[in-house]
Amino acid sequence: MNTTPIDIIAWFAYLLSAVMFVMGLHYMNSPKTARKGNFISAAGMVVAVVMAFVKLFITGFENAIAIWLLIAGIIIGAVAGVASAKRVKMTDMPQLVSVFNTVGGGAAALVALNDILAGEGTPSIVVLITAGLGVMIGSVTFTGSLIAAGKLQGVKWVRNLSLPGKSFWNILFIVLMVASFVLLCVFPQQRLLWAILTTVFALCYGLVFVIPIGGADMPVVISVLNACTGTAVAMSGLAIDNVALIIAGALVGSAGVTLSVLMSKAMNRPLMSVLAGGFGGSNASAGDGEGPEGTMKETSADDLAVQLVYADKVIFVPGFGLAQAQAQRELADLGELLKEHGVEVEYAIHPVAGRMPGHMNVLLAEANVPYDELVDLDDINPQFPAANVSLVVGANDVTNPAARRPGTPVSGMPILDVDKSQNVVVMKRGRGKGYAGIENELYYEDNTQMLFGDAKQSLQSVIAAVKELLG
Ligand code: NDP
Repeated sequence: MNTTPIDIIAWFAYLLSAVMFVMGLHYMNSPKTARKGNFISAAGMVVAVVMAFVKLFITGFENAIAIWLLIAGIIIGAVAGVASAKRVKMTDMPQLVSVFNTVGGGAAALVALNDILAGEGTPSIVVLITAGLGVMIGSVTFTGSLIAAGKLQGVKWVRNLSLPGKSFWNILFIVLMVASFVLLCVFPQQRLLWAILTTVFALCYGLVFVIPIGGADMPVVISVLNACTGTAVAMSGLAIDNVALIIAGALVGSAGVTLSVLMSKAMNRPLMSVLAGGFGGSNASAGDGEGPEGTMKETSADDLAVQLVYADKVIFVPGFGLAQAQAQRELADLGELLKEHGVEVEYAIHPVAGRMPGHMNVLLAEANVPYDELVDLDDINPQFPAANVSLVVGANDVTNPAARRPGTPVSGMPILDVDKSQNVVVMKRGRGKGYAGIENELYYEDNTQMLFGDAKQSLQSVIAAVKELLG
């Protein structure tokens, strides 16, 4: 194949965009530079898309319809991307990422499928393997991420879906999917049949893989699906020989794998058990048996203010409810007030608090909480017995002592040992359950009091009461 000047220009443009992706990822290491990192990566993507379009335009489209379809695709994609990114709330970000994974996986599968089916001659074995893997992984990601997005959005019928005999269905579809893929490579003459079967079985596997998963496994599954999107894109890039797709896909894939390993370690979930279709049968709707014994004791903002002002050490425990209430600034303000008064204040950060990895770090960085006050699970847990007050703000599952015994959707997940504090006050709106759908035994402990109400309003009341006490 002759290398034309446009090929060389495209190579350099793709190299530039790859460098921008890597720089962007590097800047995302810290919340301070993350915005810049995002911008550089987005600019890298623009360079790659424009170059791909220019190259196609110069080398010639097969027909005029193709060019208009491509232009329409770019416009629709850009408008949908900008509109959703501008309108989505911070708490809905994980669903958006899952929808992006759905679209990314689906697109990679379609590109790979086209490469297998559209050419005139029989595709080479290299194309069959790479494109076949792209079809397989992309299709699994498509349906799996769609279900994950529905679960994260709290769509009732999706969360209530259950799959009796989940291991059987998982193994069945893995075997059928891999067998069709192998037959595609061995009998490329019948590639239409085997490619369609690979796609259908992979779509089914994506469904049966994610449907049974809930509770504490969900964060791991989301990062696994993210890794799959990257890998599918890289495979499609290999199949169509597009270096930008290969590099971008490899970056997303390797970052996703690293995150999956870190998340599964943090969650005490063997990665292979999660991949095999749910760990310990955890389903979001499970665990609705008998609730914990005892009653919840209520407290008021004034009482809490007294406890906080007379404390030597206070630990704040933020969770999804803090993000939902957008109360991070109020929490930071309360922390500042107490610190000025001489109280030691720290923030306990659970690796899966909220709905995405690093959710609490991002939220609190936005409120300018100093990074050294955010303490990880392993380092904060030994400190709870010394805390006069632990203030839980919209955190539920990550504090649930039920995780310490088997048979619940959060079993095995490391938790923040909030119950070991001298006093615990929990801010939440009512008696709603956490993401895993089970009651929290912490709320019924003798040393726990509940301050019901929206976290933002409760914190505002506590701040006012603390100010009054301090004169
Ligand atoms: P949870 O989702 O378990 O609980 C949040 C609590 O916040 C609810 O019980 C709710 O109670 C309360 N709440 C909601 N809105 C408000 C409000 N406006 N003001 C006050 N309270 C409010 O949160 P956690 O952070 O403890 O745990 C995260 C869960 O999400 C884990 O199960 C984790 O596995 C899962 N997950 C995490 C992901 C990640 O990557 N971080 C991804 C996917 C899932 P009420 O309704 O009574 O107010």
